[in-house]
Amino acid sequence: MAVEKVLKTQKSADTNCIRPVVLSVEGLRTSDGDGVKLRRFIGSSTLPKLDPFLLLDAFSSDEPRDYLGGFPEHPHRGFETVTYVLAGRVRHQDNKGNNGVIEAGGVQWMTAGRGIVHSEMPEQQDGLLSAFQLWVNLPAAQKMTQPQYQEFSAAEIPIEHGHSSEVRVIAGETSAGTVGPVKNVFTEPIYFDVTVRPQGFFMEKIPPTHNSFIIVYEGSIVLSSGSFGEDKVVEAGTLAVLGAGNRVNVTGKDAGAKFLLIAGKPLNEPIAHSGPFVMNTRAEVMQAFQDFWAGRF
Ligand code: MN
Repeated sequence: MAVEKVLKTQKSADTNCIRPVVLSVEGLRTSDGDGVKLRRFIGSSTLPKLDPFLLLDAFSSDEPRDYLGGFPEHPHRGFETVTYVLAGRVRHQDNKGNNGVIEAGGVQWMTAGRGIVHSEMPEQQDGLLSAFQLWVNLPAAQKMTQPQYQEFSAAEIPIEHGHSSEVRVIAGETSAGTVGPVKNVFTEPIYFDVTVRPQGFFMEKIPPTHNSFIIVYEGSIVLSSGSFGEDKVVEAGTLAVLGAGNRVNVTGKDAGAKFLLIAGKPLNEPIAHSGPFVMNTRAEVMQAFQDFWAGRF
């Protein structure tokens, strides 16, 4: 895959530099679940994956028919799903007896592991629903681990105040030492929700081992590309895949901006993916279907 080749080539280079933008992705308009309209940024032909990330969907609509169908009961095995709600409320319920509502500003980091069957439904009849769902792959040795949840409300997510930026630290640690509540040893993820004021500046370290991207959801930013060439403007509704390096430099445009900065350690393992199951081999995917049909989840 083109983008991963670019990233691999770059990794042999010096990583003491600003990460340049290597690909800009506009979300593909599609629908999933029971007719939920969304934009898919990772998991489409433009960007099939960005190891360890398998999928990124963005939902944002104040039109109830775009989201009311929700995601009725469905299984997952072999990876993690991360739901981050910006506006509105999402109810989840699973076959292990867990049930709860993710409210605006809250996150649910679900390790599906060996398997769960759950539903994700809007807990509202109208109004704005805005959320992201990210799928993070699990290493082969952990694909059959016990399912588990990490769920945090807006109040439980620390906010780091910079000179002209604000960072909600969901996972990972900032260079100033703010640590997100989500603990994850599998891919050591960074998941920051950043607000940068008009002409404001945001700089952060990203471990050189990690793949990383920024998705802008409000306003627009300028991403410095360091010695790799021109700076890039990234508008709301665009995902920028970042190349090799150890930091990112962002400047807010005139209206300021809001964006997610996400990074994770690539697994570099074979992927066999069919629908809600992501394993390493085709035989393991077939086994997942058999286990699900036999009620062994
Ligand atoms: Mn799901």
